Amino acid sequence: MKRLAILGSTGSIGTQALDVVAANPDKFKVEVLSAHSNSALLIEQARKFRPAAVVVTDEKKVKEVKDALLMLSIKVLSGDQALAEVVQWDSVDVVLGAIVGFAGLRSTLAAVEAGKVIALANKETLVVAGEIVMQRAAEKNATIIPVDSEHSAIFQCLVGEDPAALEKVILTASGGPFLGRKPNYLVNVKASHALQHPNWTMGAKITIDSSTLMNKGLEMIEAKWMFNLANEQVDVVVHPQSIIHSMVQFTDGSVKSQMGLPDMKLPIQYALGYPQRIANNYKRVDFKEYSKLTFEPVDYKTFRNLEIARNAMFKGGNTPCVMNAANEVVVNAFLHNKVGFLEMSDMIEKTIDSVSFIEHPTLEDYISSDIEAREYAAAFVKKSQLSMY
Ligand code: NDP
Ligand code: MG
Repeated sequence: MKRLAILGSTGSIGTQALDVVAANPDKFKVEVLSAHSNSALLIEQARKFRPAAVVVTDEKKVKEVKDALLMLSIKVLSGDQALAEVVQWDSVDVVLGAIVGFAGLRSTLAAVEAGKVIALANKETLVVAGEIVMQRAAEKNATIIPVDSEHSAIFQCLVGEDPAALEKVILTASGGPFLGRKPNYLVNVKASHALQHPNWTMGAKITIDSSTLMNKGLEMIEAKWMFNLANEQVDVVVHPQSIIHSMVQFTDGSVKSQMGLPDMKLPIQYALGYPQRIANNYKRVDFKEYSKLTFEPVDYKTFRNLEIARNAMFKGGNTPCVMNAANEVVVNAFLHNKVGFLEMSDMIEKTIDSVSFIEHPTLEDYISSDIEAREYAAAFVKKSQLSMY
């Protein structure tokens, strides 16, 4: 029986992880749940799964959760510090990091420091501070298992292989809802349109990232750190059907891929169950329904975010951190119809140019770079709005 701390339990990954837990009561027990602002869903989840504790990070929501769970002897903790503490409890075996954005970094690092097994969905953690996270994980014997479908695919392809025989990884990208579109079309798209992903149902932020291809850029950097790769060993190809979740090419020219229907419950279940594969009766791939699996190059010229992220990966230092912070700010602005689709790339680029470069950042440097980048990006958003009137 694995005892789980599910951070971000109210999100897309969090709720699907709880579906996996509910389907496997003999394998998993929920020890901790965490949410930010969705108190109603957190209360419902706590009543159903009876964890020892829940953590609420939005201070405004704490009282409501406390009142609701008073009679159930479930501890209600609040704030980021509590989040960093619960992941270190002896009663927690596996931490699922499913908080979105930079906000997930601190709790992931705390779990690393405690040498936990971490099923990591929060890709921003590795984008921002991958070098530090992976180094500390090695020192503390923490195990990081990817939840992101591409990285889960690579992880699965590498089982039983000699890491030295890996030539490169090839991340597949669906291309998102705007595959094949050009800037003259993209200039007018709104958040409601970008939120309609053809193959995956996900949280709002990652869905916008998928439409701009920033998601694939974040995933390149995530792969670099997760699998200890040189920048040149990370490649991307567009595969619109999302059946091949990624591939690994070996030094003998052989390529392995991992396939499945696009359903995040599969990589979530794999990460939580690892090294055991858990049987299920989810729908299987019927290859007769997919008579064509196709591949095409990425249009870096139109989807500039991927080029920006690739360059940030090569530049290194605090650049991916700065890029990530700027992206979080502009995506949020785009979701509120405050900036245009193409403007997002301009603002990310300008933010990268504005924040001073640090070649070998400490954790504190990452935290201050994140703050500084958010300030610049917010100022660019404000300026663009003013110029609209
Ligand atoms: P959602 O937006 O659906 O959920 C995010 C979760 O994080 C919610 O539980 C939310 O709480 C919580 N949260 C938000 N802000 C904070 C904060 N400041 N402090 C603490 N908790 C916070 O996101 P997803 O589930 O889609 O994604 C989660 C992570 O997984 C992301 O990093 C994403 O890139 C990654 N991922 C997601 C995939 C997917 O299919 N969804 C696929 C691959 C990776 P509340 O809702 O209560 O406010
Ligand atoms: Mg992914």
